[in-house]
Amino acid sequence: MTATRLLLLGPPGAGKGTQAKLLVAKLQIPQISTGDMLRAAVAAGTEVGKKAKETMDRGDLVSDEIVIAVAEERLSQADARGGFILDGFPRTTPQAEALDGILARLEGPLECCVALVVDEDELVGRLLKRAEIEGRADDNEESVRNRMKVYRDETAPLVAYYRDQGLLAEVDALGSVDEVQERIAKVLQ
Ligand code: AMP
Repeated sequence: MTATRLLLLGPPGAGKGTQAKLLVAKLQIPQISTGDMLRAAVAAGTEVGKKAKETMDRGDLVSDEIVIAVAEERLSQADARGGFILDGFPRTTPQAEALDGILARLEGPLECCVALVVDEDELVGRLLKRAEIEGRADDNEESVRNRMKVYRDETAPLVAYYRDQGLLAEVDALGSVDEVQERIAKVLQ
C-alpha cells in the first residue's frame, strides 16, 4: 500500500511543488502548500497576507506562529482526512514539533518524509529560470540566495529530525520531472 500522509522536503527550486501536483493526481489527496496559501493571503490582502508580504519578498521565513496556524487550519479540513502532501511545511524544528502534535490530534502520524536532494548551483539556475516564467516576486537573485541560506540554517536540520523518526526517504531530484516522480513512487510503496 502507498503511504498517504506525506511530506515533501527540499530546498527552494528542488521541484517540491511540481512533484506534489503529480502526486495529487495519482493519489487523489490534497497538496498542502503554506507558500501557496500565504501567496493567496497576500493577493487577497488579509491580515496574515499583510504581515507576511515583506518577509516573503526578502526570502525570509514567516513566523512559526502564523505558519503553524495556517497549516493547522488547512489540516483540519475534511479533505485532509484521507491523506495529504505537505509541501513547504514544516520548515523549522518548532514547526515540525507542532506538526507532530497537530497530526496526533487529527489524521494520525506522518508516514513518509521524501527529501529531494539537489546541488545548490543547479537550484539557483532553476529558480532564476522560474522567475522569467512565473514572475514570482521572491525569485530575484538576492532573495533566491537568501532562501538557500535560510534553508541550510533552518530547514536542513529537519532531514535528521525525520531520519531519527525512521521516516526519511532521500530521492535524487536531478533528472526529468517523470524520472523524479518515478523515484518517489518507488519509495512510497
Ligand atoms: P514556497 O512557495 O514554499 O517557496 O514559500 C514561499 C515563501 O513563503 C517562503 O520563502 C517563506 O517566506 C514563506 N513560507 C512558506 N512556507 C513557510 C513555512 N513553512 N515557514 C515559514 N515561511 C514559509
